[in-house]
Amino acid sequence: MGLLLEKLEECPACERADGWNYDGQQCDGCGYGKVPLPGAWVPGWDDLNRMRQWFNAIRDVNPTYLEPRDYQLAERLHQAIGMEVPKGIADRTAPNHCGLCGEPWPCRVGRSRTAPESVRSRHVRAGSG
Ligand SMILES: [Zn+2]
Ligand SMILES: [Zn+2]
Repeated sequence: MGLLLEKLEECPACERADGWNYDGQQCDGCGYGKVPLPGAWVPGWDDLNRMRQWFNAIRDVNPTYLEPRDYQLAERLHQAIGMEVPKGIADRTAPNHCGLCGEPWPCRVGRSRTAPESVRSRHVRAGSG
């Protein structure tokens, strides 16, 4: 029974115990990574711009793959390379908006009583997911 009582390890960044992804390396709650990148790689402008292009390509091909954290990263990428953050991204990172669909919070799905929990849980208030 000891295993059942064992508490999940708390994340040093968000101080929650939501669980750990990627072989226990990444906090499920906030995305904090335990292991520092080898060699402390600092991406340059060109690398960051390519990541921005990856994001745009995924968004064009199948935006259902994207999560609120992806939009937050896209915002940081645009800022880091000195590009204006497109409205479609800024809407999803603005306070009191849904981080997934960009509607004012609570969004249609967020306040739906019929949407399955698996769908609803992907819609979170911007900044909280
Ligand atoms: Zn965390
Ligand atoms: Zn939403």
